[in-house]
Amino acid sequence: MRYPADDDPQFVSHAPGYWPAEAMQKWSDAKWQLRNRVDSLAGLEERINLTDEERGGVLLAGSKLAMSITPHYFNLIDRDDPDCPIRRQVIPRIEEGWTAPEELADPCGEDSHMPVPGLVHRYPDRVLFLVTDRCASYCRYCTRSRVVSGVGEQQLETQWEAAFEYLERTPAVRDVLLSGGDPLLFSDARLDRLLTRLRAIPHIQFLRIGSRIPIFLPQRITAEFCEMLRKHHPLFISIHANHPRELTTEVRDGLGRLADAGVPMGNQSVLLRGVNDRVEVQKNLVHKLLMCRVRPYYLYQCDLINGSSHLRTSVAEGVSIIEGLRGHTTGYAIPQFVIDGPGGGGKIPLNPNYVIDSQPGRVTLRNFEGKVFEYPDPTPMPAEAYDALHARVD
Ligand code: SF4
Repeated sequence: MRYPADDDPQFVSHAPGYWPAEAMQKWSDAKWQLRNRVDSLAGLEERINLTDEERGGVLLAGSKLAMSITPHYFNLIDRDDPDCPIRRQVIPRIEEGWTAPEELADPCGEDSHMPVPGLVHRYPDRVLFLVTDRCASYCRYCTRSRVVSGVGEQQLETQWEAAFEYLERTPAVRDVLLSGGDPLLFSDARLDRLLTRLRAIPHIQFLRIGSRIPIFLPQRITAEFCEMLRKHHPLFISIHANHPRELTTEVRDGLGRLADAGVPMGNQSVLLRGVNDRVEVQKNLVHKLLMCRVRPYYLYQCDLINGSSHLRTSVAEGVSIIEGLRGHTTGYAIPQFVIDGPGGGGKIPLNPNYVIDSQPGRVTLRNFEGKVFEYPDPTPMPAEAYDALHARVD
C-alpha cells in the first residue's frame, strides 16, 4: 500500500554522500553501517572542514562521551554549514569541556533510584531497564553520558538475574521500558529472548523500547525484526528524532515497517539550541512524523547534563514553541513539553498559560488567537426544575 509520505518530496535519501559510490552495495547492511562509523578526528577531517571548536571538542571527547556516527546519519551533515543542526547533535564541541554550576553527571537522579544495578524504579508501576551502554551513534547531550559509550566516569553493570528476580517479586510493576544505550543494537535473537523473559512475568502488561536506531540506523529495522516484535504485543517504541532532515526515505520506510507490524510509536525529542529551537523547524518535524505514523509525544527541556549549556535553551523558549503549535496545527502533532525534575523529580509538564483569571464559578480563558472567553462551572439543577421534569414523566 502507498501512503502520502511515499511520494512526498520532503523525504529524501542522502546515500551515498561522503562515501564512494561502491558503498551503495553495502549501504542497506546495518552491520556495514556499524563497522564504518566515523569515530576519529581523521575520519571527520577526511570528509568535512571542522571548526576550531569542533576539533577541540573531538580531542576532549575521548574521556567523556565517545564520538561515533553512522554513515547514514553522517550523510545528513551539511559540509558547508558550521551551524548545521545535524553536526551539532553528534560532533563534539569544545564547550562540552566546561561544566556550568547547575550541571550534573546524573541529572535525573537515576542512580539513587536503582533497587538493582541497571533497573531504575522511580514511579510505582513502571521501571526503566538499562540493557546496554552502547548506541549506534552518540548524542552530545545524552542524559546518560556518565555511562553511555563506555568512556565516561561510570560503567553500566546491569545485574540481569537480579533485575528479573526483582521484577518477578514486584507485582506493582506493570510497565517495563527497555533503554540504555540502545536496545535495538541487540541481535533479533537476543532481543527476542529478553522480551520473552519479560512477557513470562504475569503482572507485566506493557513493554516499551526507547531507541534512536530508527533514525541513526534505519537499515536495522528489517522485515524479520518487525515480525519478531509482533510476538510481544502490546509493545510500543519511542523513537528520538530532533530535526526534520533526519526523516529520510530510509527512515520513513523503516518506521512504516514498524507501524505495519502493529507497533505504536511516539517521538521523544529534545529541545536543542541551534537544532530545533524554532517553531517552523518543530512544525516541519511533527508534520513529517505524523506522515510516518509516529505521534509526537514529548518535547524535553534538555537535562542539566555536564557540558551541555551551549545546547540548552531557556524554558521560556520551549513554552513559546508549544504556543506556536497549539491551535496552529493538528492536535495529534503537538508534543507535551516536559522537564525531568533535576535530581529525580520525574516528568513535569509545562504549558503556555491560557487561563487569564479564575474566580469561584468561572474561569476566563484566552485561545490561540488571543480571543478571550468565559467558561462557567455547571449550574446545579434547582429542586423545582427536577420536580417539574419528574411530573412530566410520572
Ligand atoms: S541514542 Fe539515546 S542513549 Fe544513545 S547517546 Fe543518544 S540520547 Fe544517549
